[in-house]
Amino acid sequence: MRRDPFGRQRQRQGAAPRRGFNPRILILLAFLGYGAYYWFSNRTLDPVTGEKVLIDRSLSVEDEKALGLQAYEEILSQERPVDPDLPIAREVRDIASRLIAKVPEVEAALAAENGQQPTGFSSTFEWDVQVIQSDQANAFCLPGGKMAVYTGLVPVAQNVDAMAVVMGHEIAHALLRHGAQRMAQQKLSQVGQMAGAMSGMDPQQQQMVMAALGYGYLLPYARKHETEADHVGLMLAAAACYDPRESVPLWQRMSEAGGGQPQPEFASTHPNPGTRIQNLQSLMPKAMEYRRKFCADAPATPL
Ligand SMILES: [Zn+2]
Repeated sequence: MRRDPFGRQRQRQGAAPRRGFNPRILILLAFLGYGAYYWFSNRTLDPVTGEKVLIDRSLSVEDEKALGLQAYEEILSQERPVDPDLPIAREVRDIASRLIAKVPEVEAALAAENGQQPTGFSSTFEWDVQVIQSDQANAFCLPGGKMAVYTGLVPVAQNVDAMAVVMGHEIAHALLRHGAQRMAQQKLSQVGQMAGAMSGMDPQQQQMVMAALGYGYLLPYARKHETEADHVGLMLAAAACYDPRESVPLWQRMSEAGGGQPQPEFASTHPNPGTRIQNLQSLMPKAMEYRRKFCADAPATPL
């Protein structure tokens, strides 16, 4: 199966001269062949989700950390991080450290559900979290573990449990290497774009193909990433003794607050908040199980 694209390529290359040599077809096939080779040689199983994903094998954890750090420094130089001694900064750091402490156990438990061992990819992450003064209800965690929470999120989160759900979601993006997956998809899209240009399609046709690719492949992928981050993030929050049930009213508040405003990262690819809430509700029994299993301290609220 894996050899197919190359087999076809050789066949067509062999047939081309009989129809009159067209170098454009050769170049097009070379691009398509490279795209297929890139796809098949960089597919890897994520033990935590049990899904086959596309990540460039040449991208190491050190590369990801360096890329994340560079982006972090750029963002922090443009934004206004609050005084790290302020109560909000302390609280956010405390939530982050409780979530991070549970990463190995939660990854191992989720991987075990798929009959796999965790990769331990995040074991050398250099975690950091800053609170940024901003009206945006947003948060992020970059590849390599650099995080930020915007003060505009505080009134929407309303409590530490909901804040932990959002931060768990962001941490999950970094653990699952969603940034690296996006980079690999972009590379494939570029190869496709070049192949389109080589095939003699006019720019309008190329645009249509790229739009179809976006809606048919990249957007569903992005939504899948959000769903995966919700799942892993919820288990992290529960394992770190936060109340996962707070995720549902959080999303209700988030969708009310989002009307007409630019969507924050964790809402951007979910046009239907109802679906997200349904997903979270279906995960709740499992999240409560994780809380019973991994939360060593007696939780403040009765279960
Ligand atoms: Zn997200």
